[in-house]
Amino acid sequence: MQKILNYIDGKLVQPSSGKFLDNFNPSRGVVYSQIADSNKDDVQLAIAAAKKSFPAWSNLTTEQRSNYLRLIAEGILKKLNFFAEAESTDNGKPVTLAKNLDIPRSAKNFEFFAEAITQFHGESFRTNATAVNYTDYSPLGVVACISPWNLPLYLLTWKLAPALAAGNTVVAKPSEMTPMTAYLLSEVCIEVGLPAGVLNIIHGTGPNVGAPLVEHKDIKAITFTGSTQTGRSIANSVSGQFKKMALEMGGKNPNIIFADCDFEKTLEMTLKSTFSNQGQICLCGSRIFVEKPIYEKFKLALIEKTKKLKQGDPLLADTDQGALVSEAHMKKVLSYIQLAKDEGGKILTGGRKAELSAELNKGYFVEPTLIEGLDYKCRTNQEEIFGPVATITPFETEDEVLKMANSTNYGLACSIWTSDLNRANRMAKKMESGIVWINTWMLRDLRTPFGGVKESGYGREGGMEALKFFSEVKNICIQHTE
Ligand code: NAD
Repeated sequence: MQKILNYIDGKLVQPSSGKFLDNFNPSRGVVYSQIADSNKDDVQLAIAAAKKSFPAWSNLTTEQRSNYLRLIAEGILKKLNFFAEAESTDNGKPVTLAKNLDIPRSAKNFEFFAEAITQFHGESFRTNATAVNYTDYSPLGVVACISPWNLPLYLLTWKLAPALAAGNTVVAKPSEMTPMTAYLLSEVCIEVGLPAGVLNIIHGTGPNVGAPLVEHKDIKAITFTGSTQTGRSIANSVSGQFKKMALEMGGKNPNIIFADCDFEKTLEMTLKSTFSNQGQICLCGSRIFVEKPIYEKFKLALIEKTKKLKQGDPLLADTDQGALVSEAHMKKVLSYIQLAKDEGGKILTGGRKAELSAELNKGYFVEPTLIEGLDYKCRTNQEEIFGPVATITPFETEDEVLKMANSTNYGLACSIWTSDLNRANRMAKKMESGIVWINTWMLRDLRTPFGGVKESGYGREGGMEALKFFSEVKNICIQHTE
């Protein structure tokens, strides 16, 4: 059975414990590979390698570092289909999604930051006739990148690319649920000749690898994407160390639909924003609010479209809905559907573990589910489910929907659908959300700041924000004598 090894100091190596964890194929519910069960000794080796390679990497010219990033992007794209099938098998997501979104975007992350670093610059301030201040950005040293399972390679590379572009060396810890494409990335790095130790990837669990990594004194910055619970635990564990930290965490995004929206476009995009990747994208809308005059019509049309989603083998090109990532996650999602029923919700469609062909019957499939009739304050409407489950709720006024939409502890993203731009702007200003989409969803421009407010995020990723995060800024003031 294939073994997923650590990537330390330019080589693929066994974990120091010699132990491996089972890695599951979620659509079949079977173990299909083994993942290094690393511990703090492996973390120590990786940090030492990253430290050793830091001065040489940061001393390269911007152009030289950019070139390495471009080579990695090309290396991923050359194996697009291979990477997409690997991501689909490891995560349960439809291969079409991996081929059209996850893998191209992973390559794009490297291409984008290869270019962005060439545009990164400081500022200067003329203070008076004899004095000028200027800012100088320098890399931090060794940084930690920790990523989740939902967009495995996409979110890992979203962190690696700016960290490396800015001249840092990296120890990365991908999710233990979906380690495969990070492993394939380490093979690409070896193929393109990335200098040893510049990037190190350690596999294993959060407590055994993530915790010692973030707490290590030589780690100068932590970028993390995952649940709010883990983000909080990281923040607590390093609170006295004053490291730079960017935490991208959970969400419970509202999708607000006014009666004057473009009905067909809103319907099509709501289907996507609710169920793409089985609802396991941090940007998915899981609370759909619809203005009363179109509530019934919109609801019925959405139910009809949801019922037509093709659920099945993620490796088939016409599959819309694949499997959830793990048995534990499937159980969590099903328990929330039960909670919704207990709280008085009516299941409009879905609501059960999906029954599929014999080959898939051990897989972790949940039917795409819509629920109505729930109070906006109930647990189903307040807690993150992170699966193919959304509630639908009518509203009458802007104030009412704002109160409901802003009522959770989260604030990552929202979508507002209306043809009244005055209203759209008014609403956008009042939404407690790091990202507001108006008449669209998940339209990404990598130059924009990305992140959430409240318990969804601390710090911002994207564009120059990311390059600043991975740099230390120094102000230099010079005065000359007349
Ligand atoms: P998770 O918090 O369980 O794990 C995320 C990563 O942290 C994994 O690599 C895990 O091994 C590691 N980890 C666990 N404990 C750790 C510890 N004590 N110290 C350091 N690292 C530790 O999250 P998940 O289940 O993998 O991902 C799903 C969550 O991610 C959802 O809440 C989702 O909303 C969120 N998410 C957020 C964004 C965003 O941009 N805001 C994007 C994608 C996913």
